[in-house]
Amino acid sequence: MFKKILIANRGEIAVRIIRACRDLGISPVGVYSEVDREALHVRLCDEAHDIGPGSAVTSYLNIENIIEAAQKSGADAVHPGYGFLSENPLFAQACEESRLVFIGPSAASIKLMGDKIMSRATVEKVGVPSVPGTATPVRSVEDALRQASTLGYPLMLKASAGGGGKGMRVVSSQEDLASLYQSASGEAESAFSNSTLYLEKYLSRPRHIEIQVLGDHQGNLVHLGERECSIQRRHQKLLEESPSPLVDADLRERMGQAALQVARSVDYHNAGTVEFLVEPGRTGTECNFYFLEMNTRLQVEHPVTEMVTGIDLVREQIRIAAGSRLSYRQEEIQPRGAALECRIYAEDPRVDFIPSPGTITTYVEPSGPGVRTDSGVRIHSQVPVEYDPIIAKVITYGEDRDQAIHRMRRTLNEYKIGGVKTTLPFFQALLAHPAFLEGKLHTDFIDEHQLLDPPPRSNHDEIVPLVAAALHHFHQSRKSPPPTPRRHRPWKHFDRYQDPFRKW
Ligand code: ADP
Repeated sequence: MFKKILIANRGEIAVRIIRACRDLGISPVGVYSEVDREALHVRLCDEAHDIGPGSAVTSYLNIENIIEAAQKSGADAVHPGYGFLSENPLFAQACEESRLVFIGPSAASIKLMGDKIMSRATVEKVGVPSVPGTATPVRSVEDALRQASTLGYPLMLKASAGGGGKGMRVVSSQEDLASLYQSASGEAESAFSNSTLYLEKYLSRPRHIEIQVLGDHQGNLVHLGERECSIQRRHQKLLEESPSPLVDADLRERMGQAALQVARSVDYHNAGTVEFLVEPGRTGTECNFYFLEMNTRLQVEHPVTEMVTGIDLVREQIRIAAGSRLSYRQEEIQPRGAALECRIYAEDPRVDFIPSPGTITTYVEPSGPGVRTDSGVRIHSQVPVEYDPIIAKVITYGEDRDQAIHRMRRTLNEYKIGGVKTTLPFFQALLAHPAFLEGKLHTDFIDEHQLLDPPPRSNHDEIVPLVAAALHHFHQSRKSPPPTPRRHRPWKHFDRYQDPFRKW
């Protein structure tokens, strides 16, 4: 077994991995950027190394600095967590070349599954259906128009290197295709340095359901059932649960087998997730599912699977990387009860979930039976603007879904976070909504249901019309009157000047 593991990450996931290391008697080594010097994960490690200035590119994405820190510390292995370098095959390769064990799959599996066009072709070959779409990249607007006329609208333009909902656009009609093509390829180029796009049929109100897999170096491969992640904003997950209220034994078996086929097709080892979009039917047998992508790393939402299976996924990841066999055979994995996870982000759910970085001034974590809080902060912690604004994840377990929901509502009421806006009020509204309680989930749930009232009028709202009115009078005094307002209302000048504040 390893003696020291360097954790190439920050926040709640770094803390989660530190705990798994301690439970195995392994010494955790941390890394931090300049803005994270005082962060919780740094305090909890036996030693921690400075890897550069605040921006992700110069620190948590800096392969050279991280490898140097690992070598300086004498670590035997590196855990990448999620995000940052976790799905970068060059990082996996750099670790191996520096005699550091990368706690994850091979660089080849990461590379193949990291390209959506290649991964779709790979799974199709083993008989797993992917969302209908183009098998090759679309090279130009003209090419996209041609292929779109065969597939039919609505469509989705997607970045082949995509992740985190970036480089993705819904195209409802031919007229919109050219401009959406330009914006999606521009976003893909800046996010992934790769502007390659392809087209997928846009499924109407599908459900996002994924299967957790684990494989060892001896060729053993198991699945740990499903997680439903249909509650999303901007195509990014907010709440996850296991089991899915939709999935019955038949569908679970079919999706589980499909996920194992996908994993086998790339000689997968370590923890991974095969994601599907599901078109619901009246019974499990009538549901259609389509491969979406495979994430070759630990997922944010892994705790719900841990709660229902009793398997510590990070511990398994470390054991597998150290050469041990899987601790469980497929027939020994019997999920029990139900678990929910709410992602607590420093975001304002009343204003399009815009990030709300800042200092945490009040912090009281919930607890009690069946409650788990994976957090990366404490009182006075900073939520920096530089990174994803996740603060914590709250996970509740129950004998059934109802109990897990009741427990989550109680838990969210006990959770006190001050100084930044959070997604807590959003979850309180969601968990009281009849459609959610009935398990009628789909990926457009948030857009379809008005869960929160618009924000109360703030000082900002009062100042903007005043500035607008001042500008209006300034124009008038210079005898260049602004266009006539559309209709008379006290806020009539507001519309023309509010835009800069809404772009955020
Ligand atoms: P990323 O890799 O950027 O996370 P995914 O391909 O995993 O992107 O998709 C993220 C989410 O976007 C899905 O969970 C779903 O809500 C939506 N989505 C993706 N593809 C489609 C599609 N073809 N039809 C409908 N929704 C889709």
